[in-house]
Amino acid sequence: MNCHETQELLHAYLDGELDVVSDVAIAHHMHQCPECAQAYHSQQALRAALRTSALAFPPPEHVQQRIRSAVRRASRTDTRARVWAWPWLRVGAALAAGVLLMWGVESLRTGPAPEDLLTQEVIAGHTRSLMLTHLTDVTSSDQHTVKPWFEGKLPFAPPVQDWVAQGFPLVGGRLDYLGNRPVAALVYQRQQHIINLFLWPAPSNVAPGETRGTRHGYNLIHGTTADMTYWVVSNLNMSELQGFVRLVQQPALPSRALQ
Ligand SMILES: [Zn+2]
Repeated sequence: MNCHETQELLHAYLDGELDVVSDVAIAHHMHQCPECAQAYHSQQALRAALRTSALAFPPPEHVQQRIRSAVRRASRTDTRARVWAWPWLRVGAALAAGVLLMWGVESLRTGPAPEDLLTQEVIAGHTRSLMLTHLTDVTSSDQHTVKPWFEGKLPFAPPVQDWVAQGFPLVGGRLDYLGNRPVAALVYQRQQHIINLFLWPAPSNVAPGETRGTRHGYNLIHGTTADMTYWVVSNLNMSELQGFVRLVQQPALPSRALQ
């Protein structure tokens, strides 16, 4: 996704009309491109300004008629100069420019929130794994096959368990890349539902906790165990997915950081 494509799709992005892959691609681009992030915040600010009561009053009928006829004239011939001669339009434009400037400066400091971006990446990782027939790099229900497969490929040893007895058979594992780091993706199944469990070492100063959410029709749960950050994503219903997370959180899992 380049700047041109991003700005072309910005309105659809703001309206939430894009598919999840484009959505993620744009969020990712804006995270790295201050210019597009600024365009995004400017559009957002303009929309917010237009929604406020101070600006969103219906104009009187005679003004509406003048606008309609002006638009008709403008669409026939280029009468931009005449339209811009209206003083209130100039005031509106100056106001909008001021808002844009303020938000432009602000947006240089803030891109999309990192947490939000990570959520998008997790969903993208999940949907990619379902769409591109790249669900697993190592396909096995045997934890003693899957666990050693990660050795040498990741700077940590992810805990791998098969929970077939609890109704969540292990399908396999693969490498993925989230939040600018390589992560372990373990794939489980519950009836016809695929569950992606993403794991990487937790930062030492984070208290264990759990966050649940639903986005683009997927249920997501993330948190930390004693030493791992986990993200779980699936179209499985939330209560069964929570049952799965309780297994993830069992402290019996042996795992060790190599670094
Ligand atoms: Zn850009």
